[in-house]
Amino acid sequence: MPGDTVEVVKRCSVCGTEIGRFSAKKENLFLYSHERVACPICQRETPELREVAGRTEARERETASLPRQNR
Ligand SMILES: [Zn+2]
Repeated sequence: MPGDTVEVVKRCSVCGTEIGRFSAKKENLFLYSHERVACPICQRETPELREVAGRTEARERETASLPRQNR
């Protein structure tokens, strides 16, 4: 089915800057990684944070009036 693939956003877990995106099949989706990314804002390697792109945008719409939280 075409809906099997989701877009995953890689972010710096320190400042939240988007580093890049990639597509993954849902059954192969690993949101918890121990990889590090080179963040241009922090100017060092930081632990990466992965989020499903569509789900994040939906959640931000739902909680637009609430204070932003780290999980
Ligand atoms: Zn950063």
